[in-house]
Amino acid sequence: MPFLASGAENVADLPVHDLIDSHCHLDDAAFDDDRDAVLRRAETAGVCKIIVPAYTLKYWDRLKESCRHHPGLYPAYGVHPLYLGDRDDQWEATLATLLTQAVALGEIGLDAGDGTPDAAGQRAAFTTQLAMAQQLGLPVILHARRSLEEVILTLRRFPGLRGVLHSFSGSLVQAQRLIDMGFLLGLGGALTHPRAQRLRATAAILPAESLLVETDAPWQTPHAHPGTRNEPAYLGEIIASLAQLRHTPAQEIAQVTAQNALTLFHLQDAP
Ligand SMILES: [Zn+2]
Repeated sequence: MPFLASGAENVADLPVHDLIDSHCHLDDAAFDDDRDAVLRRAETAGVCKIIVPAYTLKYWDRLKESCRHHPGLYPAYGVHPLYLGDRDDQWEATLATLLTQAVALGEIGLDAGDGTPDAAGQRAAFTTQLAMAQQLGLPVILHARRSLEEVILTLRRFPGLRGVLHSFSGSLVQAQRLIDMGFLLGLGGALTHPRAQRLRATAAILPAESLLVETDAPWQTPHAHPGTRNEPAYLGEIIASLAQLRHTPAQEIAQVTAQNALTLFHLQDAP
């Protein structure tokens, strides 16, 4: 297959299957009108498993229902730093119950973007949830916006914890520190943008066994679809970008990243 040797531009041309989208918000209202069609397109594009990390407690129930009805969807539960206000008094108990049927705890972390509230509250919720994950032996799905240094320092207080830093955009040194602590790095749509030079240069040389691929749909749409909603069927475009940057066949990137996801989230054993 000569297109493999030359580094395929478009993975849609390849006989890909068994892809794993390690981060997709299928519970978001953006998919309410056509969730089944989105899932069919993902399947046609070779995406066989999707990790769906919660971000707000408001959607926990319907996330649970979606994953129950659609084979290949795997939930993670947690409270995202921008949605802490949605919590009720029982949130920790509810979360603990839901986590008995989850592949990870997330999406959790710190967000220091413009106008984000309550840094102290964010830190408290983050460490509470990291402690839960450590106690339950669950991997964590981490969000770090303008806060990667603090997230890395916080993780040092939870030895043995594993997980993925989703939508990684830090430096090579930060990547190495995370990898040394046993964390994986999630790469998504940002990678497909030619202007993301530092990220692309870093992604080209990171160890393959430390990488996951993700769409973060409905957000972070790949470069080829400006101004539109992202969806898991586009995962192959991220894999194709990564393949091109690393001068590696797309099929190999697909296989390694899928294996990394299977291992981190224990998907072989998941219900
Ligand atoms: Zn996310």
